[in-house]
Amino acid sequence: MSKLLIVGTVAFDAIETPFGKTDKILGGAATYIGLSASNFNVDSAIVSVVGEDFPQEYLDMLASRNIDISGIEIVKGGKTFFWSGKYHNDMNSRDTLATELNVLADFNPVVPQNYKDSEIVMLGNLHPGVQMSVINQMDVKPKLIVLDTMNFWMDCAWDDLLAVIKKVDVITINDEEARQLSKEYSLVKAAQKIHEMGPKYVVIKKGEHGALIFNDGNIFFAPALPLEEVFDPTGAGDTFAGGFSGFLAQHENISFESMKNAIIYGSNLASFCVEKFGTQRMETLTEAEITERLEQFKKLTQFEIEVN
Ligand code: AMP
Repeated sequence: MSKLLIVGTVAFDAIETPFGKTDKILGGAATYIGLSASNFNVDSAIVSVVGEDFPQEYLDMLASRNIDISGIEIVKGGKTFFWSGKYHNDMNSRDTLATELNVLADFNPVVPQNYKDSEIVMLGNLHPGVQMSVINQMDVKPKLIVLDTMNFWMDCAWDDLLAVIKKVDVITINDEEARQLSKEYSLVKAAQKIHEMGPKYVVIKKGEHGALIFNDGNIFFAPALPLEEVFDPTGAGDTFAGGFSGFLAQHENISFESMKNAIIYGSNLASFCVEKFGTQRMETLTEAEITERLEQFKKLTQFEIEVN
């Protein structure tokens, strides 16, 4: 079984959408990535940090999904990373109300010895210096390194971010962030500029409008499934990244062709994430539900047309 090493935040989130508001609930990039990747036949582990205030039941839930949590450090007397956000009426845009780094501010990640040979490394959203440290601790060069990031790190750790982007094979980023990173409005031009920064594959997420993958002049597009109800988009990007990297970890062959399927799997899983607040939907997701929705995806995108 392939190993998938995940790094990212494990957090408390407080979320406000037009449908309601939560107190502090379980969140974090690595949490969503791990839950999403747990739907594949892979051996995955999370490297992260939490404070003493973090409930044991959340860690138990991750472990119950067969995620190795030995790389999640618990800092005595420390407070867990906290993020709070508010969605606008269209749910496509949100304002960050608070980002409290807490234990993340002094985090030195330690990759568990038995994951230093992971085939796939999924660098979820967190300080780019921490992402770089994880790459440097690998004993064997991974088959694929995937990086996700956000505007927060572009604003406060630009040089570190550019340094780690140089080292990765794939970057997954949303459209607004791709524009901020490349200083280009056109996503095609943005992808070209980002290629030049290092990654061979550039995945641009467009929320309810799907995702694009660019590689060496090739472009492929996966739609997002049109849903009747979207309660909370938090974690959709990370769930996408978990599906993308989980799918690739399960497959021997890594190419543009397999990445096309990986972004379909990522979009499929993200479509569940948004149906309930926080991680709720991902915690109960079954294989049968995933398969059924994949069929819907197929129907949504297949057509026959003759091109003369
Ligand atoms: P997404 O909706 O996929 O962009 O991810 C939302 C998750 O990212 C939330 O669960 C937050 O805890 C986490 N998050 C928010 N801001 C940051 C940040 N600056 N660094 C790392 N993780 C973050």
